[in-house]
Amino acid sequence: MKLKKTPLSSLLQATTNHMVDYLEQLDTRPIVPTEDHISAMEGLDFDLQDQPIDPKQVVDLLARLGSPGTVGSAGGRYFGFVIGSTLPAALAAHCLAGAWDQCAGLQVLSPVGAKLEAIAGRWMKQMLGLPGQSGVGFVTGATMGNFTGLATARHALLKQAGWNVEAQGLFGAPEIKVVVGEQVHVSVLKSLSLLGLGSERVVRLPVDDQGRIKTDTFEFEDGPTIVCLQAGNVDTGSVDPLNQIIPLAKKKGAWVHIDGAFGLWAAASSKYKHLIEGVELADSWSVDLHKWLNVPYDNGVVICRNPELLVTAMSVNAAYLPDGTPGPYQLTPGLSRRARGVEAYAALYSLGKSGVAQLIEDCCRHAKTMANSLEQAGYKILNDVVLNQVMVDFGDNTDQIIQAIQEEGTCWASGTTWKGRSAMRISVSSWATTEEDVKVSLEAMIRIARQYSSIT
Ligand SMILES: *Cc1c(COP(=O)(O)O)cnc(C)c1O
Repeated sequence: MKLKKTPLSSLLQATTNHMVDYLEQLDTRPIVPTEDHISAMEGLDFDLQDQPIDPKQVVDLLARLGSPGTVGSAGGRYFGFVIGSTLPAALAAHCLAGAWDQCAGLQVLSPVGAKLEAIAGRWMKQMLGLPGQSGVGFVTGATMGNFTGLATARHALLKQAGWNVEAQGLFGAPEIKVVVGEQVHVSVLKSLSLLGLGSERVVRLPVDDQGRIKTDTFEFEDGPTIVCLQAGNVDTGSVDPLNQIIPLAKKKGAWVHIDGAFGLWAAASSKYKHLIEGVELADSWSVDLHKWLNVPYDNGVVICRNPELLVTAMSVNAAYLPDGTPGPYQLTPGLSRRARGVEAYAALYSLGKSGVAQLIEDCCRHAKTMANSLEQAGYKILNDVVLNQVMVDFGDNTDQIIQAIQEEGTCWASGTTWKGRSAMRISVSSWATTEEDVKVSLEAMIRIARQYSSIT
């Protein structure tokens, strides 16, 4: 089919120019689109024309009307949710991989996809201090990492009980208990619901004032059990006491799964790795790459101590699929997928071990600066700032102040409810955040908070 009008090299050159323009103006534009930008996006919406058009016209329209409709989360002053940016090497690799257009599910479809996943997987296991023989599957993010790890747990525990859950399903199966902390992430509950393990039949254990499962009340009845622990509470950044709880759970034969979406990256820094001490004792781990490793969406991994269990839990059989060494698709729920290992490889290779440590430490240092300055300005910090998350209470006007900060556009942070009170949540997860970004953002936050309290 003949579609090209603008030569490919000019098209891609023009696209690169749009990308550079976009990234360069992130610093000066408001973080969220203005009303005008939102309404201008109506220009993208028309009845589809009959004839093909020049691809350059498509990209130009996307740049003109689409770019202003983005949230500037790739810049250095976005502190909402837990959102990373994209490292230059990861962005460049992402573009190259777009040209490759690999279906990375099968080794025969993408030798390079499989190779890069294997290498990036090995580097990450080393960096995160996890067992070297573990299987690593590249998934869309920590939700699917949790899903896949818990599916493997379900497989393993029922196999032990003489039940083949993949073949027989859950009706009539021996019961599996699931133990979580009171502050379990919703993605774990969602995964449990998708797996037929139920989000409401979990045993919720009490947590301390930072959201960590309490060691002294940690107990559960005998029988097949999955214990879900957390490394990186979305509000406080705290980590369950892994080195105390995991041995207790393992002694009773439980499967221990760790939701380490962002917190597991503490392992990369000698300053923070004490927080996740004992993490290597678990059976499965879920880690995001699109958050703290700063690669493009969507990217995350599931890591399982026993690769055979992961492969069996995820296995499919079809006459047209190759046997032999587990291909990438045998480690994940999906079959066809993009080569996610490319960006992970590029990010890790470009930073090196000390660069990853620096990324983590910079974010944590900025979080501390944020907390200290807000506290000095008279506002209450609600959590121990152990990692990259800060929760601030601006008093009775907190909700209005969060909204005003978001609307003012210098920076963006989201809200949460902590122990029944509204709080603003700052997450520093981007390589792009500089000292200057922190300074400018703090000035805006404090100025707005003060204005607000003086008006009311
Ligand atoms: C973000 C997050 C998840 C979900 O990850 P996705 O990449 O959004 O699927 C799970 N657990 C924790 C603790 C998180 O912060």
